[in-house]
Amino acid sequence: MLSWKRTGFSILCAVALCGWGQGPLRAQIRQGPPPMGLPDNQPLVGDTSALAREAQDWLVELVKINTTNPPGNEQAAAKYIAGVLTKEGITPELLDVTPGRSAVVARLRSTAVPDPSRALLLVAHMDVVGVDRNKWAVDPFGGVIKDGYLYGRGSIDDKSMVAANLAAFIALKRGNAHLNRDVIFLATADEEQFGEASLKILIAKYWDKLAAGYAINEGGKVVMKNGKVQYVGLQLAEKVSMNISVTATGKGGHSSVPSKQNPVTHLADAVGKIGDYSAPVHLTSIVRRYFEGLSAIEDDETGKWMRVIDAPDRGEHAQRVLSDMNPMWNSMMRDTIAPTILQAGVRANVIPSEAKAVLNVRLLPGDTITLLLSDLNKLVNDPSVKLDVMPDAGFAAPNSSMESDFYTLLTKVCAKEFGGAPVLPFLSTGATDSAQLRLHNVQAYGLRPFPITEEDDARVHGDDERLSLTSFAKGVDLTVRIVAEFSITH
Ligand SMILES: [Zn+2]
Repeated sequence: MLSWKRTGFSILCAVALCGWGQGPLRAQIRQGPPPMGLPDNQPLVGDTSALAREAQDWLVELVKINTTNPPGNEQAAAKYIAGVLTKEGITPELLDVTPGRSAVVARLRSTAVPDPSRALLLVAHMDVVGVDRNKWAVDPFGGVIKDGYLYGRGSIDDKSMVAANLAAFIALKRGNAHLNRDVIFLATADEEQFGEASLKILIAKYWDKLAAGYAINEGGKVVMKNGKVQYVGLQLAEKVSMNISVTATGKGGHSSVPSKQNPVTHLADAVGKIGDYSAPVHLTSIVRRYFEGLSAIEDDETGKWMRVIDAPDRGEHAQRVLSDMNPMWNSMMRDTIAPTILQAGVRANVIPSEAKAVLNVRLLPGDTITLLLSDLNKLVNDPSVKLDVMPDAGFAAPNSSMESDFYTLLTKVCAKEFGGAPVLPFLSTGATDSAQLRLHNVQAYGLRPFPITEEDDARVHGDDERLSLTSFAKGVDLTVRIVAEFSITH
């Protein structure tokens, strides 16, 4: 928390303009000497609990708007958000991408002429993945609150961040804050499919409305274990998704006279070999730093392996132990290949002449598919099986910096808010909109600000997705503090 700088020009006072003392942001007096007797360490942000309760209502309403992608239908959610902003005296803009699918953007200005390189973008996506309704204990679009949790698709991914960003943005407006940079609120569509209504298209059509030097997005995590925050992972990079098709061709015919050229068995052999394969370990600088930081808080045995992960003598063994211990750690250290689709045959008594599979590959930043493909071809070693890279590759982007002033601030505020828990650079195994932003020179940081247990994290994209309301309030508080510290002159 920054203390006041008594410049006599722009200081903070303990009175918020919103309701004179009730709002979370302390307003500024821009002239005159500082009032006497105010404490030096007066925090920039006050109590955010009332704001978090408002934001909880927004989140409930957003969960009730079914934005399952496909088809998405994010325009309904965009209109709801636009209504919330309008009530605050902010002018939102709906950015139409395709019919029924819009993003919503709004800006708080610092100066008449914007400086995009300084601007802070608060981005989150409105679309959600589908549900298997039979497996849910509650209506996934009912906005059900039970036992201190909000249940619903999107309650974590990513409507919670939409609501928290909205709260931080509105707090700035209510506090009539004197901004040192433009702050842009953006709720996007089509993040889950990266399709025709996604941020890529939005950037192509509307970049002047979104351009920023810094961004907060999903992709990071605040890990809860045994009732306390174990660590905060700030996402600076992500793996790149690609697909490979595997096609086995052979001799079709009557199943009563099978031959060695049955493509089903050739495909099964190939997929089996690939499924057992582990690509070589490649420790990126982010992952090294991540394990280094984590080693201090893990149990002795795990911490010991993390500390020697790069050692010439024991490194290889340590990498194996850690890979076996946690599939996410395994995926952070190497390219992974997961067979996901198998297709062969139409009748039980007909041998097909072709059998197909799809492999989903997640490449580490900097790795190339050509090298991996060549390794896989050597491994399969079967002339009747062909591997082809499919044209739907994800986006490879540069890492966000560990040296930026925003990263330093994020680290500081997160550590303070979570009782000194370590804040670690993080490589996410999944993809987010941040790759698009990084490709446009935005220092984008993945921060999902809500403390979440591993058990609840596993419900994201699964059944009974839920977010603890206490965690939500904490995440709102953290977001408000980060945004205020970075964007208010003090
Ligand atoms: Zn998401």
